[in-house]
Amino acid sequence: MTNGQVAIVTGGSRGIGRAIAEALGSEGFSVVVNYNKAASAAEEVKTEIEKHGAKAHIVQADVSNRDDRRKLVDETLKAFGKIDLLVNNAGVAPDVRADVLDASEESFDRLININLKGPYFLTQLVSRQMAEQKSGKIINITSISAYTAHTNRGDYGISKAGLAMMTQVFAARMAEFGVNVYEIRPGVIATDMTGAVKEKYDDLIFNKDMTPIKRWGKPDDVARAVLAIAKDYLPFSTGEVINVDGGFHFRRL
Ligand code: NAP
Repeated sequence: MTNGQVAIVTGGSRGIGRAIAEALGSEGFSVVVNYNKAASAAEEVKTEIEKHGAKAHIVQADVSNRDDRRKLVDETLKAFGKIDLLVNNAGVAPDVRADVLDASEESFDRLININLKGPYFLTQLVSRQMAEQKSGKIINITSISAYTAHTNRGDYGISKAGLAMMTQVFAARMAEFGVNVYEIRPGVIATDMTGAVKEKYDDLIFNKDMTPIKRWGKPDDVARAVLAIAKDYLPFSTGEVINVDGGFHFRRL
């Protein structure tokens, strides 16, 4: 069953983006599933969405590439005619966790291009469309790394801190068009991205009291927060941060 609304989910092929795309599909959204490399995974997501009787359209696009961003928007409008929700989820961790005294410019450029510049200019394109429509919602998936200093992945944290400010900039600009902009800030979530550091986080979560809620986050935990926004349960909130982190963000004694 479709609900008549159209969502773009960047990086919808795997992990958190996949859970978001499928959750939106289960609520009847027509979902544009963007991916960069994982074509067969994106096909699986499309199949899952269609099982709910909703519509899905796959678009390969590297969010760090200007022409690809244009293609993503154009193909969405061609397939579904409008954009009600943009979820800027696509993101990468550095290939190498390098100490900030040694980290490379190449890693910095890659992280900033994919995690910050890509969503910034995609949001600019989509915002122009939403301004014409006089409606829409935008969600940026940041991270606890937006405010937690990691000395071995400074580039990642800086990209997410920038994305947090981007949320406020677009929230301020788009309110007059009836467009609310939100930041969802996940903690440690079990996906391919955190697979390589599983032991480290097992220790922090289960032995070192990292969070009041002692478990790994699930992609579905983030997807549920997206649904609350998508289904318009936060209509008088914009520029808002929603922490999905097991309580990591507040101080404890
Ligand atoms: P993941 O499992 O590695 O999946 C990343 C997704 O992003 C994939 O669908 C991938 O597409 C896509 N992607 C990567 N580069 C892209 C590009 N240049 N253009 C378009 N799509 C691209 O990661 P995840 O853990 O689900 O993370 C999703 C988001 O949540 C990221 O922004 C991440 O920073 C954030 N986050 C994750 C955690 C965590 O603990 N996992 C915590 C806080 C925030 P392909 O499959 O085609 O490569």
